[in-house]
Amino acid sequence: MLKGKTALVTGSTSGIGLGIAIELAKQGANIVMNGFGDHEGPKKEIEALGVKVEYHGADMSKPAEIEAMMKFAAEKFGGVDILVNNAGIQYVAPIQDFPPERWDAIIAINLSSAFHTSRLAIPHMKQKNWGRIINIASAHGLVASKEKSAYVAAKHGIVGLTKVAALELATSGVTANAICPGWVLTPLVQKQIDDRAAKEGITVDQATRELLGEKEPSLQFTTPEQLGGLAVFFCSPAADNVRGQAWAHDGGWTAQ
Ligand code: NAD
Repeated sequence: MLKGKTALVTGSTSGIGLGIAIELAKQGANIVMNGFGDHEGPKKEIEALGVKVEYHGADMSKPAEIEAMMKFAAEKFGGVDILVNNAGIQYVAPIQDFPPERWDAIIAINLSSAFHTSRLAIPHMKQKNWGRIINIASAHGLVASKEKSAYVAAKHGIVGLTKVAALELATSGVTANAICPGWVLTPLVQKQIDDRAAKEGITVDQATRELLGEKEPSLQFTTPEQLGGLAVFFCSPAADNVRGQAWAHDGGWTAQ
């Protein structure tokens, strides 16, 4: 379905981004990978699906590096048709103890980077009259939890940015939507489980059950593969007129 298209997925060396890149590659899309840590292993895994893969290590907190990455994607593949803004970080503390530099980093990586990639990707998409912007928000883009001020603010912000992009592009073949996952067992969440186990003196299994039980009625993690499937749906003709949605995939978290 996506043969001949190019998807750029920020933060695709791990977790949800990697899961989405794999599902888009299974549909034939060439992939521009980004993110920190080992990229050679994940790159080979995606290449094995028979598509072309390029990697750019831009730091999503740095607009100049984002511009270099978008230029790189245009040089390698002629432009980005599917933009998945996924890179993200977390920090947990009450507002009065929240380090200002952590606030700035979360807003830059989880929110502002999506503005920069979008502004640079939209001209090519409009010219082709086809494009998909898929922003990975969170259940925290729809509801709040304590001690996650920067994350919740950034995720609510990216839902707002998604709606504005959808409206500005509404008469074109370019759509913008957000995905709002509940808990997904990735390194980002494993750290929160491990911290909880250490703080409360309980096992990691108990901490996992508590974490799910507190928020997610299904008591199940959403998987990166499932989120990849939803991204593939957004890229399908069936979703041509799905615009500006914040689509929860959260085991009932935000239905409560
Ligand atoms: P993860 O830690 O497994 O992956 C994050 C990715 O972002 C990695 O590839 C990492 O290298 C990259 N990254 C981090 N900082 C970066 C930077 N400055 N520049 C470039 N890349 C950077 O986390 P994940 O759980 O897969 O999270 C992916 C996205 O999904 C995030 O936006 C997160 O907020 C969102 N999300 C996660 C969950 C969850 O339960 N895991 C739930 C809802 C939303």
